[in-house]
Amino acid sequence: MEQVQLGDGPGDAVHSSWLELSASHLQHNVAAFRALESSGPTPRALGVVLKGNAYGHGLAQVLPLVHAGVDVLYFIAPQDALTVRAYEAAHGLPPRQVLVLGAVAPEEAIVLARLGIDVVVADSSWADAVPGLRAAKLPHPLRVHVHVDTGLGREGFTLDQLPKQTRFLADAPDVFDTVGVLSHFANTEDVTEQAYALAQLDAFETGIARLTEQLKPGKPLQRHIAASAAALVLPRARYESSRVGISLYGLWPSPETRLSARLVLGTLPVLKPVLSWRCRSQVVKWLPAGSYVGYGCTYRCSEPTRLAVLPVGYYDGYPRLASGKAHVLVNGRRCAVLGRVMMNHLMVDVTHATSDERPVTATLLGRDGEESVSAESLAGWAQTIHYELLTRLGAHLRRVVVD
Ligand SMILES: *Cc1c(COP(=O)(O)O)cnc(C)c1O
Repeated sequence: MEQVQLGDGPGDAVHSSWLELSASHLQHNVAAFRALESSGPTPRALGVVLKGNAYGHGLAQVLPLVHAGVDVLYFIAPQDALTVRAYEAAHGLPPRQVLVLGAVAPEEAIVLARLGIDVVVADSSWADAVPGLRAAKLPHPLRVHVHVDTGLGREGFTLDQLPKQTRFLADAPDVFDTVGVLSHFANTEDVTEQAYALAQLDAFETGIARLTEQLKPGKPLQRHIAASAAALVLPRARYESSRVGISLYGLWPSPETRLSARLVLGTLPVLKPVLSWRCRSQVVKWLPAGSYVGYGCTYRCSEPTRLAVLPVGYYDGYPRLASGKAHVLVNGRRCAVLGRVMMNHLMVDVTHATSDERPVTATLLGRDGEESVSAESLAGWAQTIHYELLTRLGAHLRRVVVD
């Protein structure tokens, strides 16, 4: 028999699902936020968040699509930030501002500083790192952004800690170059009135005033607090840069944000979902009336049923909690997922979606003809949010950039 070459990973198998990323939709979303950032008296930087493997879309695919059109790239993991510098070096591109929002150890910060990557100082443990950082003899001080906890109760200095706990920054200007200050909202997307966010903004400005007085920076600090929701509905929160995550990928943070945006902006910006998820059926066949489908025999066919077995399951990120509720699209029609979602399989009813037993292509997320399944819908069927659904899409899945 002829020697057959198999691909490297499970995503390379012939019978596996794949993700399609729309380059034009991504560019449309970048342009929509660019227009928003340019709408005020002073143009602001457009920052995008590529954490979580670019919200499950695939960092390797998304980075080349957004690099030219944005000003700042935000990550959680330091390793992901390195991929930006590698990409720029490989293609002879000018370096973009890169900031690691997540926790970074001092020894990691040294590596990042050599590559001109900014880090966040969010607590006073950095004071202990000063001797080590000084001994590293960096060519220039570490560029840091100070995180102020204005009410999320996550990382950052509380107002009570400012300015006492940031004194070490003022005391070691040879080690730290404080270039920015940031915070993060707790309650912008779950509400249509922004009282809590406005209180956070007041706290943010108090924190900035204390830091500015203490550090006397040569240039004004780069201030950033707005994620997608605030960038859309809270103009006061835009400052010098925004950190757009979910909406870069064409999704609204929440229905409340969408409603607020219509009120605040007058017109609703159009966001275009970037990701579709598809697969070819493994087999299509008839089951007689009375047949059971799937583990636990939770579904029984009341009529003869044409069934498609799809090679996708919870291993790939299709949530098991969506069992018995979800739909996929075949030939532009909604087809119910029958019985339980399995590790590597799910079964769907294609009785009315196709006319024979030839293989079909199923759309798990995205559009097919007049119908679409949104990430919000699938997340809802699984009692979660689209953020979680997307970031749990398997890293092994093949990701294909389309127009
Ligand atoms: C994830 C994250 C964002 C982006 O949030 P979206 O709602 O996806 O726009 C911004 N800032 C910080 C600190 C984050 O962790």
